[in-house]
Amino acid sequence: MIKPNLVLFALLITTMNCSHPESDGDEDQVPDSPDYVLVIHGGAGVIVRDNMTKEQETAYRQALNDALDVGQQILESGGSSIDAVTRTIMVLEDNPLFNAGKGAVFTHAGINEMDASIMEGKDLNAGAVGGVTTIKNPILAARAVMEQSEHVMLTGDGAEAFAEACGLERVDPDYFYTERRWNSLQRLLKEDPQSVELDHADRKHGTVGAVALDMNGNLAAATSTGGMTNKKYNRIGDSPIIGAGTYANNLTCAVSSTGHGEYFIRYAVAYDISAQMQYGNKTLQEAGDFTVMQKLVEAGGTGGVISVDKRGNMHMPFNTPGMYRGFVRPGQRAVMIYDDER
Ligand code: ASP
Repeated sequence: MIKPNLVLFALLITTMNCSHPESDGDEDQVPDSPDYVLVIHGGAGVIVRDNMTKEQETAYRQALNDALDVGQQILESGGSSIDAVTRTIMVLEDNPLFNAGKGAVFTHAGINEMDASIMEGKDLNAGAVGGVTTIKNPILAARAVMEQSEHVMLTGDGAEAFAEACGLERVDPDYFYTERRWNSLQRLLKEDPQSVELDHADRKHGTVGAVALDMNGNLAAATSTGGMTNKKYNRIGDSPIIGAGTYANNLTCAVSSTGHGEYFIRYAVAYDISAQMQYGNKTLQEAGDFTVMQKLVEAGGTGGVISVDKRGNMHMPFNTPGMYRGFVRPGQRAVMIYDDER
């Protein structure tokens, strides 16, 4: 059910300009020390009204709001950005609508291999897992790598063993089975067995991400994904790569990416945005637009990012027809899907 205060928030959407490169950004509207900001994405891709039923659209908007609710509660009660992004991602991982956790896509071999990463802006601490198949919430494993190991990234069986040693919940791989994702794989295998798709069923990406600024001025970012349908050879995308899929630095911004991972790795997308701010004095909007709307477009890399800077400005550029996204900060909230929603 839609919450009553969302009606008010919906009215505010028209005044927001955080989602499109043509907008001016909202930097002037933000005080120097905002209470908190949380921005989320549920993947970018060919997401257009014609391909969505009203029911699907409502379900996605509700799912995004459910995730925002959880993160907002943490941030407004003074909790940390790292807790907010962790819990928010868990809600999205548990929802089969998204290509992460429960809704992860299938590999060529018919299993679900998931990647996740997380980073704290205050000390550049980071953790990631790649190719995990039995960890219920891969983002918790990434966080455990960050906090309970001396490493940044663990993969495959080793990551599973580490998660087990940390007491994280593991599940039978069947837990990740969903008919929709299975059918996507079958369709793709029939059409073109050699190709990989970023969520072929509806040509959406579906990865999830969250970035946040907390009341102590700390930034954090997190990303989780099942990667590409029909992927082979233990392919790992950008989502668990610090600097590509995820980056946070209190001096600049927090970024979570979604899109064609190989391009996001090669163009070090999340770090590229931060670096332009740090070394080139660009605003969050200028940096994000340059990377996502210019460099990636020229290279042929589809996707988008969500980002928030140390002052609480946010920006969500994407070069695909749509991106599931949303934000909340004191007195303002919106969830958006299509390009024409600002
Ligand atoms: N970036 C992810 C990957 O390439 C996919 C996505 O964002 O949908 O694995």
